[in-house]
Amino acid sequence: MPGVPVSGAEDHQQTYAESVTTHTASSAEPGNRRILLVEDEQTIADVVRDYLLKAGFQVDMAGDGFSALKVAAARRPDLVILDRMLPGLDGVEVCRRLRQTMSVPVIMVTALGTEDDRILGLEVGADDYVTKPFSPRELVLRVKSVLRRSIKEFTPEPPVEAAGLELDPASRTVGHRGVPLSLTVREFDLLAFLMRRPNQVFSREDLIKAVWGWDFGDLSTVTVHVRRLREKIEANPTKPELLKTVWGVGYRFDDSSEGKKADHGGQ
Ligand code: CA
Repeated sequence: MPGVPVSGAEDHQQTYAESVTTHTASSAEPGNRRILLVEDEQTIADVVRDYLLKAGFQVDMAGDGFSALKVAAARRPDLVILDRMLPGLDGVEVCRRLRQTMSVPVIMVTALGTEDDRILGLEVGADDYVTKPFSPRELVLRVKSVLRRSIKEFTPEPPVEAAGLELDPASRTVGHRGVPLSLTVREFDLLAFLMRRPNQVFSREDLIKAVWGWDFGDLSTVTVHVRRLREKIEANPTKPELLKTVWGVGYRFDDSSEGKKADHGGQ
């Protein structure tokens, strides 16, 4: 297996490349799961890599944005941990570019910053984020949680159809009147959860627990995902007919709009 060419000629970058080939998982379960860790601060990168290896993952590493894209294309990781602040191409731009070619789940790592920073990551398609300083153990739990949801279940739930949307958990595909839609992992999970429980109202707290598996968390994560989902499934995202806001309470999926909905533009 050839080492992944990682740009940057410094010695520590060599170490990154070596770690790609020499460190493989020993324990059974996540052993064939490959994580791409994009982090330019080597002390952090080393610590996180060790935790991931201990948890049984295979780990590829990149120290800047451009090599992250190269390694992702070469290694087809199952998940990307992406630092927000990177030399060259920052994490937001890397995520945006990854999204153009892959549906790989992304966990964005942001500096302890403003809410806008975190939301920007979600807007460009990150599935989750953690805030620095973070506990590596928590990050590994997040990785497992995102992967659990992105990997096909052994006994997948049956497909569900409502209001012109067809969602199939087995293949993790969604279509609208036959036109395939491209959803991120969490968008898919959120839509699946709500479609299975039509016309029930869920608060953002409910959704963050049920869909993200977090006991607590930034509720704007839900808001951002709902907005992105609406852009993909609604004929007019500013006047949603499917994913409705119930003011002061939360959201519900309305399956009564079948037939009266205008044809979707097909995005
Ligand atoms: Ca950084």
